[in-house]
Formats: sequence, C-alpha cells, structure tokens
Amino acid sequence: MVIRGSARVTCPSCGAKHDGELVQSINTQTNPKDKARLLAGDLNVLACACGKRTQLAANVLFHDPDAQYYCQVVPGGDRAMDEAAAAFAASGVSGTLRLVPSLNALVEKVKLLDAGLEDWAIEMTKVLLLASISPVGAGPPGPMIGGEIDRVLLFDAIDRDAQTLRWVIFDEDGRTPERVSSPLLAYEKLATRTHGRPPDTEFRVDRAWATEAVRKMVVESN
Ligand SMILES: [Zn+2]
Repeated sequence: MVIRGSARVTCPSCGAKHDGELVQSINTQTNPKDKARLLAGDLNVLACACGKRTQLAANVLFHDPDAQYYCQVVPGGDRAMDEAAAAFAASGVSGTLRLVPSLNALVEKVKLLDAGLEDWAIEMTKVLLLASISPVGAGPPGPMIGGEIDRVLLFDAIDRDAQTLRWVIFDEDGRTPERVSSPLLAYEKLATRTHGRPPDTEFRVDRAWATEAVRKMVVESN
C-alpha cells in the first residue's frame, strides 16, 4: 500500500501557495520510482516557480521487503520518536527497524543498505573519524574532541576497488560540504565485532548511539 497525501504549502521565498504532493510510504518492490526520487533528493520537495526548493517535513515509512528492512522518518522531536518506537515495538514486525529524524538521514540509511554496509558499524566509524580530526591549534588528536564530534558526516559511497569509504563532511555550522575518504578496513574491523551489533529493539542507531558504543569499546579494550 502506498500512502500519498497532499499538503497546502506556502513558498517561504515568494509566498505563493501550492498543493504539494506528500509521499508517506515507499515500498521498494511496488514503488521503485519513489526510492529513486528519494535518492535523487526529489521526494517531498516543493519546487516553486520562483526557483525556491523546500523540503516538506513528513512521516515517511521506507520498506525494502527483500532486505526485511524498515526505516521511518519521524520529524517532530523526541516525543514523536518515542511514540514511533512504541508503535514499532508493538508491530510484531521482524527484520531491521530504524527510526530517523529526517529525510536526509533516511537517504543515508538507504545508501548503506544498498551498499551492503552495517549502519551501526558505519556510525561507530564516523565517531572514530571525527575524533581523529584535530582542530586547528588544539594540539594532537585525542578522543572525543568537543565540537568535532557533533559535525555532520554523511556516508556517500563505497569504492571497493580503492578499498575506501567516501563521505561528505560539513563545517561546524553544518555548511560547506567537503568530500573526504577513509580506509574501508577501519569499518570492517568494527563490523566484525558482532557483539557490538545493537539488539533488534534498538531503533535509533545514530550519533548518540555510536558515541556510547565507542565509549564502551574503549573501556573494554583498557
Ligand atoms: Zn516561491
């Protein structure tokens, strides 16, 4: 089943009113086109005649039946997340279930799924990568440097020939995207620590989860 709705939206740039189409569920078997639009950044975007493109916030449930994978976009903060988590837990659905706060976060999850990468090990890789970035003038890199650990770092692609992961990193203000790469091996080492895999009841595998997971790993190894 595909859920589509529409929303009356005002363009924040010119004030024109539109009826924007909202896709609220994506099934990769029955609606591969919606998945393609999601990955292209064209899903639930209001494109106004004035040239302004606005991302519409909406609950979107992504389902890949082949991978037994569900991921729901839940805008609206922690309370909405908690409610969605309770609904997931009560659904009795088996497979991988994830909750994310934005469509961008869903895009990253879908790219990881398609690349055959474990999102939890990727999130841990990000924390270690960010921790290794030394702020200018702050001395040698150390663990969990304040500020850096909060930077937005998004998975972009895997290059198996070059044995690297490609990322897009943003500055402290979330702007100025820059491309970086890292050795695939660092990720693989984390992914083979299967006891580090979150339980099926862990729906939010994000930076906060990974920061805690890396902290536990460091404690274990000491
Ligand atoms: Zn406009």
